[in-house]
Amino acid sequence: MTTTATAPAHIDHYIDCRLDDRDAQHRSEVYNPATGQVTGLVALGTAADVDATVRAAAEAFETWSVTPPHIRARILFRFRDLVERETDRLAAIITAEHGKVLDDAKGEIVRGLEVVEFACGIPQQLKGEFSENVARAVDAVSLRQPLGVVAGISPFNFPAMVPMWMFPVALACGNTFVMKPSEKDPTLSVELAKLLAEAGLPKGVFNVVHGDKTAVDALLAHDDVEAVSFVGSTPIAEYVHKTASANGKRVQALGGAKNHMLVMPDADLDQTVAALMGAAYGSAGERCMAISVAVPVGEETANALRERLIAALADLKVGPGTEDGVEMGPLVTKAHRDKVAGYLDVGTEEGAELVVDGRQTPFPGHEGGFFIGGSLFDHVTPDMRIYREEIFGPVLAMVRAQSFTEALKLVNDHEFGNGTAIFTADGNTARTFLAKVKAGMVGVNVPIPVPMAFHSFGGWKRSLFGDHHVHGPEGVRFYTRYKTATTRWPNDSQVRAEFAMPTHS
Ligand code: NAD
Repeated sequence: MTTTATAPAHIDHYIDCRLDDRDAQHRSEVYNPATGQVTGLVALGTAADVDATVRAAAEAFETWSVTPPHIRARILFRFRDLVERETDRLAAIITAEHGKVLDDAKGEIVRGLEVVEFACGIPQQLKGEFSENVARAVDAVSLRQPLGVVAGISPFNFPAMVPMWMFPVALACGNTFVMKPSEKDPTLSVELAKLLAEAGLPKGVFNVVHGDKTAVDALLAHDDVEAVSFVGSTPIAEYVHKTASANGKRVQALGGAKNHMLVMPDADLDQTVAALMGAAYGSAGERCMAISVAVPVGEETANALRERLIAALADLKVGPGTEDGVEMGPLVTKAHRDKVAGYLDVGTEEGAELVVDGRQTPFPGHEGGFFIGGSLFDHVTPDMRIYREEIFGPVLAMVRAQSFTEALKLVNDHEFGNGTAIFTADGNTARTFLAKVKAGMVGVNVPIPVPMAFHSFGGWKRSLFGDHHVHGPEGVRFYTRYKTATTRWPNDSQVRAEFAMPTHS
């Protein structure tokens, strides 16, 4: 274990609007990836901790679910302002535990706040439907009602934004929430919980239980958890979907990605390279919407793109996320940095050309941090592991295609289908791409097409298990149950039993 000058802080569960004072039997180390030092020890929840958290949420549901939607929204309005006020402090916590640069950390808070803003308009989304006189003196009404206690399980790469994809919509719809953040950067969820309490959220409506597989399994099995929102890697997403579904819960489980960017011969290469650098190496490639595969169409496009990327990579500024001018921070843990570095050997052994090797980048004065420079492979082919598997680091693979049709087929044949982009000056090519590509989120001259909060976010194929995308209208559908009532008030017309199927005629 690496040691720190000051003792690592304990990071505890947050239940019923207070930090849980039971001392955890097991804790896991939280690092500052820029220094390699242990800065925190997070509690690893047991089944009993999960049960206590879910029970607090179940009790709170009785009152919260019948609180008028505009009163619930009012609390979210206040929460929105508090998060905005605290953005610098929250971003510093993200950078300290995740490693991403401060501007990027602030950006994820803004994207999360946009979901809060969407949730503030929830009364409009929950209005329901009404039909008068569906038969003589009979009316029909459809309602959207909350589910109960819902759980959110999030990955390390967006400790603010991904939880905020989930809980603002769930709470606004009248559910109570149990958040299980990543054990690698767990502090942000607790900070958000404190701000929700400051905004006036009643006890038990939003709770945080920390942990690993033990806590997740307890949530998936708990009788009082009605639905599970999961975001993480594909094997765990598939496991969560299967297990929670078998236990009768509603599940949305978002998984991994391998996002392709097609570069057509008519694309503006200056714009394309600028976009590609940010999309491939921003947040050290630890984004589910990162571009990890560039597909230049035609040899000329490929050669020009390669030369420009080499030049741009020579200028990429990698270092601690707190330093001015740094564009890319370290990876989240040493184990993850070593895994990413290992893929550079794998690709070379498979016959790809390692054009830029990020392991060669020196980091003087930061030897303890989990740093690696940006890497570029050329002549990657679809049979290679570095093409098929998600590396989740600053490694871009170039796969040369000879035609648009071949490039499109590559995207469509890949097992993941989260996001994709095309860079072109031709409207018809872009239109055909949008119509035919098998991915949930598509960018046309936009490298990271993350939908706005009032649309919904989600992939296709093995990037999403379940039927609902997150936030926006799909989020409202996920966190509510549809109920339709047919109503008649006693009057003189109802005088005899009817044995035929009612036809309302
Ligand atoms: P991960 O799958 O390792 O962990 C995600 C969550 O699952 C964490 O809370 C973790 O504690 C829990 N978990 C881990 N192992 C488990 C197990 N065996 N059983 C039960 N629960 C377990 O993912 P990560 O490394 O934290 O995050 C990176 C991954 O998330 C990447 O694959 C990335 O593509 C994906 N991601 C996807 C999206 C999306 O929208 N599709 C968004 C962000 C991240």
